[in-house]
Amino acid sequence: MSSAVKSDPNCIFCKIIAGQIPSMKLYDSDKTYAFLDIGPIAPRHALVIPKYHGAKLHDIPDEHLAEILPVARKIALAAGAEDYNILQNNGRIAHQVVDHVHFHFIPKPSEKEGLGVGWPTT
Ligand code: IMP
Repeated sequence: MSSAVKSDPNCIFCKIIAGQIPSMKLYDSDKTYAFLDIGPIAPRHALVIPKYHGAKLHDIPDEHLAEILPVARKIALAAGAEDYNILQNNGRIAHQVVDHVHFHFIPKPSEKEGLGVGWPTT
């Protein structure tokens, strides 16, 4: 059974999906949105999110998760990243700050780029 997109008017990422808050869009389909992270820890740090609102991974129906990794793969290829992390946090103890499921794409900067934007220097 197909589950329609769910939205929370108080959620910052739902506002980004709705275009109420600007974002640097990388991908947009009926179920998935991807954009650059506003506080990158490396150049081209991006977020891939389901349009279906839910705080944690287990809140999201399978069909709304199905496109996430294929989109992360597209972004990794487009970024030309050889080495990178895909990360997804659930809950405060696990360092989740925004309560709308999101997958971080964090490329490891090349030697040419150095340590990159906001990368810890100590
Ligand atoms: P978390 O710790 O996994 O919840 O990460 C939340 C991420 O969302 C952080 O990397 C933030 O920089 C990012 N973020 C928060 N607000 C915005 C925004 O308005 N646009 C883009 N990224 C955001």
